[in-house]
Amino acid sequence: MFVQIKNLQYQYKNSTEPVLKDFSLSIEQGEIITILGESGSGKSTILRLLSGLETPKSGSITINNHLIFSGHHVMPPEKRNVGMVFQDYALFPHMTVEKNIKYGLKKMNRREKQKRMEEMLELINMTNYKNRYPYELSGGQQQRVALARALAPAPSLLIFDEPFSNLDANLQIKIRDELRGILKKTGITSIFVTHDQADAQAIADRVVFIEKGVIKQVGKPEEVLGC
Ligand code: ADP
Ligand code: ADP
Repeated sequence: MFVQIKNLQYQYKNSTEPVLKDFSLSIEQGEIITILGESGSGKSTILRLLSGLETPKSGSITINNHLIFSGHHVMPPEKRNVGMVFQDYALFPHMTVEKNIKYGLKKMNRREKQKRMEEMLELINMTNYKNRYPYELSGGQQQRVALARALAPAPSLLIFDEPFSNLDANLQIKIRDELRGILKKTGITSIFVTHDQADAQAIADRVVFIEKGVIKQVGKPEEVLGC
């Protein structure tokens, strides 16, 4: 399995109850997973443990055969090769599309950066937009640039925290289909978290439904929650 999350336990310091008591999940390479659950069910916490913003009390995480966490071993966030896309895109407003996409490519030389940036623009079908600023783009285009920026450094795993929640309903449907198409083209492994059942089912290969940090159902979109 490409991602193995085993027996994670986590409790916030100022809280009386653990958010996760024994959370395990395996993900295949190239799979798109959505973690579906109500607000407060522990979705963001799972993402924070994967990205390294929080450290589990016990359990283990491996990604692509690299040990991210186990007992005393904690790999620093910047070494994990986990990319993130947030709900508000978080594009840098004072940077063009080109600069935004190149931002995470610090280790490459100028030519490599240029090449990678052009590849990403082609992937999101926005080759003519590299000199635009975020405010000159539609919501959907901004979302695609945010995706291109996250994909540019070739992360092993891409995670999305409620990426559609700021979009209106029509755009939401269009964007999630586009996103799914782009992700499948690249073959990247990804995890989405959402509280929206329709979103979860539209984008995922497999839906993981959680309540209070516990997996209640897991399966193909049409199998979970009887849809
Ligand atoms: P979700 O992303 O599904 O909305 P979270 O992972 O944010 O859920 O939260 C899970 C639980 O942990 C909730 O009960 C929430 O109130 C609690 N929680 C989240 N962040 C913190 C924190 N920094 N300190 C204490 N409790 C927290
Ligand atoms: P939203 O889902 O509206 O974005 P979150 O539930 O993710 O909000 O919480 C936003 C921030 O507040 C996060 O950093 C989270 O860790 C923190 N937080 C959430 N619940 C608690 C809590 N019970 N105590 C302290 N901090 C919390």
